[in-house]
Amino acid sequence: MIQVRNLVKSFGSNIVLNGIDLSVAEKEVVVIIGASGSGKSTLLRCVNFLEMFDQGEIRLIGKTVIPTTTNLNKVREEVGMVFQQFNLFPHMNVLENVMEAPLHVKKMDKVQAKEKAMVLLKKVELYDKALAYPKNLSGGQKQRVAIARALAMEPRIMLFDEPTSALDPELVGEVLQVMKQLAQEGMTMVVVTHEMGFAREVADRVVFMGDGKILEEAPPNEFFINPQNNKAKQFLNSIL
Ligand code: ADP
Ligand code: MG
Repeated sequence: MIQVRNLVKSFGSNIVLNGIDLSVAEKEVVVIIGASGSGKSTLLRCVNFLEMFDQGEIRLIGKTVIPTTTNLNKVREEVGMVFQQFNLFPHMNVLENVMEAPLHVKKMDKVQAKEKAMVLLKKVELYDKALAYPKNLSGGQKQRVAIARALAMEPRIMLFDEPTSALDPELVGEVLQVMKQLAQEGMTMVVVTHEMGFAREVADRVVFMGDGKILEEAPPNEFFINPQNNKAKQFLNSIL
């Protein structure tokens, strides 16, 4: 579903990604961890073509994406993204937030878009909040709306960039639960998170980034029990 080859990305003289190779198979859940500033967000943004890279190649769903010739909006329809800051439209209620892209990007008719949105709101357990506005929701509820909104485009891949980092601790679980369910349903997912419980339980593979590279990747059992890379060991010691 995702194949990143020798990805290089700099901001000025700061080489943030220095030759990243990463493949993600269909239905696989990959958790990316690493210190702050190690390029996790930049990598996700490159995979979604929100950020242009300097060198390398990204193939999505079997096709090489060439930024100058490929329709990037079509690519982004296949790749849903959920951010730390929920980025909901404040002037729209929950239902309207979820219906927005299907209506205006996919040109779905209104009845169908609404039906679909309500199914998704049920899935994230916010059916009864359909008419609420974002300002009246908790952070956990907002993030679940953001997930429903991304799913409304029927993406083949979902990227999560620290989806629970802005939440009060008691609200983290409800968001992770929705993500876990999505994983169990077979969604292909790349998740940047500091939630090691989630990584252990849900990830097929953990990827550790540092020095602009992937320093280690392994199934969670191996990675958490017996990390090989020294920086990975230090990182785990610092957070566990
Ligand atoms: P992480 O998500 O792992 O914390 P980021 O991908 O956000 O790391 O950032 C990696 C590095 O790239 C940091 O040094 C950050 O300051 C830099 N960076 C990220 N985005 C930009 C940008 N738009 N302009 C300049 N520097 C950036
Ligand atoms: Mg980040």
